[in-house]
Amino acid sequence: MKKEKKRICTLERQIAKIKQKISSIDDLRRGSLSEQYNICGTPGCKCKATPPTKHGPYYQLSFTKNGRSSTKFVSRKNIRDVKLQVKNYTRLRKLIERWLELGSELSDLRVSDKDE
Ligand SMILES: [Zn+2]
Repeated sequence: MKKEKKRICTLERQIAKIKQKISSIDDLRRGSLSEQYNICGTPGCKCKATPPTKHGPYYQLSFTKNGRSSTKFVSRKNIRDVKLQVKNYTRLRKLIERWLELGSELSDLRVSDKDE
């Protein structure tokens, strides 16, 4: 019983920390970034040499919107911002996962507490 109370306290503290971290997240963007290197159609271009020097990198954002997956190019001048936005999104997802995990354990403890 006492052990459960202690665990409840710990979980409450951990959840409070997660909420605090979530509230500090600002710009975010759903998706993941990938680098692309392309070959063009110009004859004798460096991208067709041996070994080839392909064009790029180009940055592409893959994301799902309304259940449909989509991609779009990100211009070089926006890449830093977009990288940060995607990073914040990943961070939010991780924090929510953790909150769900801890929250479920906490809820189990609260329910069993009431039964006794
Ligand atoms: Zn080329």
